[in-house]
This record gives sequence, C-alpha cells and structure tokens, in this order.
Amino acid sequence: MTEKSVFEKILSKEISSEIIYETDRVFAINDINPVAPVHILIIPKKKIPTINDIQVDDMNLISDIVFAAKKLAFDHKIHDSGYRLIWNTNNHGQQTVYHIHLHLIGGRQLSWSF
Ligand code: 5GP
Repeated sequence: MTEKSVFEKILSKEISSEIIYETDRVFAINDINPVAPVHILIIPKKKIPTINDIQVDDMNLISDIVFAAKKLAFDHKIHDSGYRLIWNTNNHGQQTVYHIHLHLIGGRQLSWSF
C-alpha cells in the first residue's frame, strides 16, 4: 500500500483541517499557507498523483472539481472580481503534494510573473 497523502490524512481526520465543502467524490479545505484572502484546495477523495495520471474514466471527477471551484467562488463572492484556478504538476510546476488538487485563489488583484 502506498503511503497516504496529506490530503488523505485530512479526510481520515489523522490531520486536522476543516473541510469546508464535501460531496461523495470531492472535498475542499483552506490552504494552510494562503497566498491570497481566498485560497482553497479542491481535492478528489480518490488519490490521483498528478494530472499526468488522469484517465478518461476520471473525467466526471475532474468536472466535479471544477464545478466545486465555481460554487466556492460564488460562496466567497469572488466570482465577479475574478480568481485563478491552478493545477501544479511535477517539479517545474512546483507540485508539492502528489494527490491532485485544484487551487482556487482570489480576493485580491493577482499578478502574472514567472
Ligand atoms: P502544491 O504545491 O502541491 O500545488 O499545493 C499543495 C498545497 O497544499 C500547498 O499550497 C500547501 O500550503 C498546502 N498544504 C500542505 N499541507 C497542508 C495541510 O496539512 N493542510 C492544509 N490545509 N494545506 C496544506
């Protein structure tokens, strides 16, 4: 059995973090190290290590994640001001947790620099 990801440990309550949104397939938490007033992680309950690993059978799950992001953007009233959705992937993408998650970031003016 592979080691549990930090997100699986949050889901199983081994690590404490408030779950702010949950369905049978996805859940969301506030990022522990937020880069903006709204910084939420939307996570599938099923561990998929990276976006490289998604399969055709995962398409409904990916839709669920994007739909949850939209709902949370409305809930946090940043849908009009705007926000950014980010999937970091592997080393160059600076992915640190190898269990896919969509960052929902907003609540301030964002810049674009690399
Ligand atoms: P990545 O760098 O893989 O795209 O994003 C992982 C994110 O998970 C980071 O923004 C990091 O702050 C967040 N994170 C890591 N560990 C925890 C944790 O234990 N609790 C919460 N709420 N967020 C975490």
